[in-house]
Amino acid sequence: MKINLAVFFILFFTYILSASSLNTTNNLNITNLTNAQKQYLKEKKQIKMCVDPDIMPFEKMENGKHIGIAADFFKIFQKSINIPIKIVKTTSWSQSLDFVKKRKCDILSLAMKTPDRLKYINFTAPYFESSLVLVTKRNVTFIDNLGQLKGKKIGIVRGYATYEILHRKYPNLGIVQTDNVKKGLKRVERGELFGFIENIATIGYMVQRKFIGELKISGKIDQKLELGVAVRSDDKILLNIFNHIISELSLQTKQNILNKYLAIKYEKSFDYKLFWQMIAIFLAIIILMLFRSYTKTKHTKEIEKYLSMIDNNVLVSTSDKEGVITSVSQALCNLTGYTKAELIGKGHNIFRHKDMPKEAFVDMWSTIQSGKSWHGEVKNLNKDGSFYWADVTINPEYDEYDNLKGYSAVRQDITDKKHLEKLSITDALTKISNRLNLDNCFKKEFDRAKRYKGKFSLIIIDIDFFKKINDTYGHKVGDDILIQISQLLKESLRNTDILGRWGGEEFLIISPQIDISQAQNISNKIRILIQSYGFPDAGQITCSFGVTEFNQKDEFVDMFKRADIALYEAKNSGRNRVVAIKYDTNKKDRLK
Ligand code: GH3
Ligand code: MG
Ligand code: MG
Repeated sequence: MKINLAVFFILFFTYILSASSLNTTNNLNITNLTNAQKQYLKEKKQIKMCVDPDIMPFEKMENGKHIGIAADFFKIFQKSINIPIKIVKTTSWSQSLDFVKKRKCDILSLAMKTPDRLKYINFTAPYFESSLVLVTKRNVTFIDNLGQLKGKKIGIVRGYATYEILHRKYPNLGIVQTDNVKKGLKRVERGELFGFIENIATIGYMVQRKFIGELKISGKIDQKLELGVAVRSDDKILLNIFNHIISELSLQTKQNILNKYLAIKYEKSFDYKLFWQMIAIFLAIIILMLFRSYTKTKHTKEIEKYLSMIDNNVLVSTSDKEGVITSVSQALCNLTGYTKAELIGKGHNIFRHKDMPKEAFVDMWSTIQSGKSWHGEVKNLNKDGSFYWADVTINPEYDEYDNLKGYSAVRQDITDKKHLEKLSITDALTKISNRLNLDNCFKKEFDRAKRYKGKFSLIIIDIDFFKKINDTYGHKVGDDILIQISQLLKESLRNTDILGRWGGEEFLIISPQIDISQAQNISNKIRILIQSYGFPDAGQITCSFGVTEFNQKDEFVDMFKRADIALYEAKNSGRNRVVAIKYDTNKKDRLK
């Protein structure tokens, strides 16, 4: 974390500095030259310039392009000069010196005044200064006086002003000239040289990039490098032009260019205001980052809380395309009695209850496979054989490429609701349908038969002399008989038949798809079954049956009326018998 912050700070710092320097550089004023100077330049047509090909950050030729501090200054100078400044390529600084001596170049971009050089070039006032430092291997202790280094081999780039200066100042120093800074530092690294002297900016630049951990700055040389433009000694006008331009350079412009290249700012120009502004921005960013990380953690915690709530309270499961369970909530496990491990990998049909008609699942699969969601009520089986009713919604689930990957099922436990529903349509004593449900079922069947010209029959059953049974054996025995007869009736019927308690000791059967003669047969079988059953307390009990069938001309109450008449006839003609009455136009008045 600390390292990341440090790197971030450095990048941020560099960004701010370079951004501000660019802004200011772009808004430079162009120095006005005198008419004579302008005329001179016009006639000269171009200025030939030699540079140091490799002394970053001062300057460098990279892919034919002049870069570095001097290059940036010359971009500004160029605006005033207004004629091309052509770079004459050289391979080393000493060659550049040689070229200007031979007048192959008119100027040197960045050079320090020395007595030797004054023989063939003049110098403008310096536009840039740097300090000289001594670089050694890491194990050398600090050196505050070059006089201490008597006899030690010290490297300096060939042709650099440093050589001339130091050679004069410290004649006993064993100075060794190298082709360039890199080669010199390599020799220090290898132990061939004790140290190397160069300007602090270049050393900082090289040591940071190429010699990290190997070399260090062990001393500061009490001699400044003052660098200006060097102009061939026979061209005073050009010297004056550059001096004029350099004198117009603002401190801010200089500083902006230096800031761009130098990691270390000069103490005297250190902008504390900017520094504290940056610290404030930096702290604001850190606080923002911490806040974001805090809210993210809070957010994640909230999501986890909701996921846990879902897991513990919602009956949810997912499956692959084949219905194999891929995940289940803890709530579903708690309800069904299975563990997650027992369910994952199993088919969803592990929950299938035998009471659920196959058709319900056929409908469900065809719906979800067509990409639609399915909703319905399903009776599900638990691990211990018990069941629960669920209101289920199944949705197809897609991957990021919109391919169907499986299904998710969300359930609501509606067992209690189903129970209440059942109670509301069930007769409390006999546990078969009550009259309310019979009415509803009859209406549905009647409407269906009317619309589709279908058939169905109605059978009313009444226990014979039931009052007497109650009187003889008591009401409790009477109740038991009602229960037992309900059971006998239930067992004699098909699944599609609807059986219910119509009144006190009367039952009603609605038989879809059954005509009157079939209904008569069924009734007779039931009649015989009851007659021969032998009830525990009451012995033989008989019932009378009134039977009729649906006719297209029937109105809603007609069938009940006919069945009642048939039952009345069965009672009157001796009981324990079945009487069936068909719709008959001639006898319709009998129904009134
Ligand atoms: P019939 O052969 O003419 O049908 O004679 P019945 O005695 O069966 O007919 P009636 O209508 O005279 O009497 C019906 C009796 O059914 C009266 C009542 O006590 C009895 N009953 C009605 N509901 C219940 C019940 O829930 N429990 C018991 N134990 N008896 C009931
Ligand atoms: Mg009765
Ligand atoms: Mg009766």
